[in-house]
Amino acid sequence: MVFQRDAGCKVSSGTSVYVIAVNERRVLLPNGNVPQEVCSDDLFEVGIPVGFIDGIPVVAVNRDIESSDQVEPLNWRTLREVLQECVGAVVEAVILAVQRLEFRDSNRFCSRCATPMETLSDTGCKCPGCGHTAYPQVTPAVLVLIEDTERRTLLAQKDGWGNRYSVIAGFVEPGESLEQCCVREALEEVGVTVSDVRYVGSQPWPFPHQLMVAFRVRWVSGSIDCDTNELADARWFGVDELPELPPPIALSRMLIQHWIDIPSYP
Ligand SMILES: [Zn+2]
Repeated sequence: MVFQRDAGCKVSSGTSVYVIAVNERRVLLPNGNVPQEVCSDDLFEVGIPVGFIDGIPVVAVNRDIESSDQVEPLNWRTLREVLQECVGAVVEAVILAVQRLEFRDSNRFCSRCATPMETLSDTGCKCPGCGHTAYPQVTPAVLVLIEDTERRTLLAQKDGWGNRYSVIAGFVEPGESLEQCCVREALEEVGVTVSDVRYVGSQPWPFPHQLMVAFRVRWVSGSIDCDTNELADARWFGVDELPELPPPIALSRMLIQHWIDIPSYP
């Protein structure tokens, strides 16, 4: 199963489409599958085409649980359940569908002059009154694995995490590069100076619209000085004495696994 995103994807009434029905960030997925239906005039009117699954158009639509044919509550999955249980193509399509609907619903009027917005041919919208344009928001955040030369990594814990530790993380600020953000977050959150910022991977994280970007960095100087507004604890762990880690679907866990599997990452 392959999802191909296409903002210009066209659908017409009477053809078969995949429907991603959304209600309060829950998605109708009977047995974990995106249901197919014949596109009605109503769906054609209010749905947002977002692309194709195996060549068949995919339409996103807000739907009341009560008005749906599929009222069984277990068929409605949270986004976290979708990430944990569904195949990659479904995850991609659902994340895009939810965020396209949210963008349209929160941009019905111009934020500058309150004129009703018009949809552009791509994913954005434009005000016919003042020309203001808006596009779906993606918020970059970095995940930073700090490593030293003795096969130890610096992991931190937040209140409410129980025994779990993870890498430090933070949002990129305006005017800042991803590399600068990694260095700043390491200094602010745990008081250490780092260098050699190396990219490992990225992951869309729809809570609400982050793009997580994972890096490994090398410790240069400083002992741990935890920012207690952000963290409950932070400490060094050897590769053979790791604590409870984040779940496998999280990019933070994949980043720690990357460090375990690849001791020397240039
Ligand atoms: Zn305007």
